[in-house]
Amino acid sequence: MQNNNQQNAFQLKNNAHHFQPFSDNKELAEKGIKLISKAEGVYIYDDKGNKLLDGMAGLWCVNIGYGRQELVEAATQQMSELPYYNLFFKTTTAPATELAAKIAQLAPAHMNKVFFTGSGSEANDTNFRMVRRYWDLKGQSSKKVFISRKNAYHGSTVAAASLGGMGYMHEQGDLPIEGITHIDQPYWFAEGGDLSPEEFGIKAAQSLESKILELGEENIAAFIAEPFQGAGGVITPPDSYWPEIKKILAKYDILLIVDEVISGFGRTGEWFASEYFDLKPDLITIAKGMSSGYLPIGGVIVSDKVADVVIGQGGDFNHGYTYSGHPVAAAVALKNIELMESEGVVERVKNEISPYLQKRWRELAEHPIVGEARGLGMVAGIELVKDKNTNERIAPKSAAGGVCRDFSIANGLIMRPCGDTMIISPPLVISKQEVDELINKALKTLDDTAKFYNLI
Ligand SMILES: *Cc1c(COP(=O)(O)O)cnc(C)c1O
Repeated sequence: MQNNNQQNAFQLKNNAHHFQPFSDNKELAEKGIKLISKAEGVYIYDDKGNKLLDGMAGLWCVNIGYGRQELVEAATQQMSELPYYNLFFKTTTAPATELAAKIAQLAPAHMNKVFFTGSGSEANDTNFRMVRRYWDLKGQSSKKVFISRKNAYHGSTVAAASLGGMGYMHEQGDLPIEGITHIDQPYWFAEGGDLSPEEFGIKAAQSLESKILELGEENIAAFIAEPFQGAGGVITPPDSYWPEIKKILAKYDILLIVDEVISGFGRTGEWFASEYFDLKPDLITIAKGMSSGYLPIGGVIVSDKVADVVIGQGGDFNHGYTYSGHPVAAAVALKNIELMESEGVVERVKNEISPYLQKRWRELAEHPIVGEARGLGMVAGIELVKDKNTNERIAPKSAAGGVCRDFSIANGLIMRPCGDTMIISPPLVISKQEVDELINKALKTLDDTAKFYNLI
């Protein structure tokens, strides 16, 4: 722990030199920034000695929890044996090959190849190029357009941010790039109007078919979607949504990319949410929980259908990254997956801890400023409202989330605001007792927020 002088010097150093991502750096400099210094299990600690329950598993990634020495040892051993080698020179490394085989074994049966990247964003850039390559090789070069959804998150590189549907990202850097279009999202609470969730799910899905008909099937390359939207606010689609999307996709010759960067590796109680929702993806984007965030790694799981064309007929695929399948990251990811298997983490999520988390989380819906409590597996969200009969928002719009987040941190819990939605995505290994702690802290935080706005 640092003393006050050290803390001040550190803040000044950070202000002077560190340009932080997704942040108003000027505001950070004025208000100061929290220094996270260690972590254990589901808890993180700041330099002032505050202990926080990490309701976000870092950024949706520390699925196995903090402080796992087995992962440290896997990294140490690989670093001393072979810290780096590339995959471009007709070469591979043992961890890259073993990890590809392990992921292929866990993935849906029709998916047997893995292309490695350093992140989820790079993986979606890979999808962008691989899908266009696929259609070129099939002699259908007019199929260029990607259909995505408003308020989707697919990463922050140029193609990935364009595939994403975040207006506040698009307005910086003249995005989206050409060839990407966005349809309605299945966000019933905010956009459902007078429709029932089921009716609205069908309507949102049908915007896919309208777009296909508008642009012409011969021009559409792929539809990309998260199984549930994560950064958009843990938007779990109505039950009618995915079956209707599947019906539409079955009618047209269009690839399906399922972005499982959050949902993959156990978060729904299945290894992949593609199984939870019974999707039949052509490509799956992975990252985050793949290594439980201990080292950066991502990838694309490729179906036999796409591999048969892009590999079978394609010759060179002129795409890859210096750190594709980085041996240390791959060794850590492999050990992470092995631990999840040997400890039955995914089965425990399905049978034990996600039912418990979801049951307790639904109790928050009783609170006077909560308009909806939703979730599935190990993700959940609540909608903050002024009046739960009308679901009118607290004014000014989107400010209450930030207020609620600040109270939450003061109460020892990391929850993330997305506008006026508060979300969680805790480590998969969280205990029932820790879930109880999370719920109690969330309730106290809601009381504090309601009092702040004079609503109770
Ligand atoms: C985080 C995320 C990404 C981007 O991954 P990075 O590793 O940050 O590049 C892509 N898709 C989804 C659904 C994500 O949540």
